[in-house]
Amino acid sequence: MTTKIIELSSNERKNLIEIIHSFHQKGWSPATSTNYSFLNPQPYSDTITISMSGIDKSKFEDKHLLILDLKSKQLLPEYANFRSSAETAIHLALYKNPNVKAVLHTHSIANTVVSLKAIQQKGIELKGFEMLKALEGIKTHETNIWLPIFENSQDMDEFSKNIELYLSQHPQTYGFLMRGHGLYTWGQSLDQAKRHIETLEFMLECMMYL
Ligand SMILES: [Zn+2]
Repeated sequence: MTTKIIELSSNERKNLIEIIHSFHQKGWSPATSTNYSFLNPQPYSDTITISMSGIDKSKFEDKHLLILDLKSKQLLPEYANFRSSAETAIHLALYKNPNVKAVLHTHSIANTVVSLKAIQQKGIELKGFEMLKALEGIKTHETNIWLPIFENSQDMDEFSKNIELYLSQHPQTYGFLMRGHGLYTWGQSLDQAKRHIETLEFMLECMMYL
């Protein structure tokens, strides 16, 4: 089964590796941090492809991609000793929404600084940016979006449950910040998720100077 999945998702795998390299070049994945995944194509959409933990993202290759089921079980027998990030639970929580097909997570200076500066706030409002239009469904810069900030945690199971609850109550959410940690966003494809994270990172970088 996994051979078939790898074969069917070869374009996405290539695309994801390019995305990881490009994010590393932008300084969004220092010191082996960050994690990335996509939902595998039909008829294997009850499995995901996800980055292996602890890999220098400038050296990330196809062999660093794992395949998991939606309960986090690793399906590649030859990779039995390798793990995805502890944050896999967040990815799996996000895939409970049928519109989510890819999840990307960055540790940039901008997202870290902005989330720490807004220490008293549960989120930040992004408004007036032309770049808002790069988010799916937004047609004008004369709008605003709320980017929630959740307190960072080492208990990923509990954190994921909170995220799932929040998103079920706020379905129009494009991403979220983990305070002092990073940004998560998603999309109906890898390309859309990439566009979303580049858009949010752009606006967060602007926020540092405002
Ligand atoms: Zn992280």
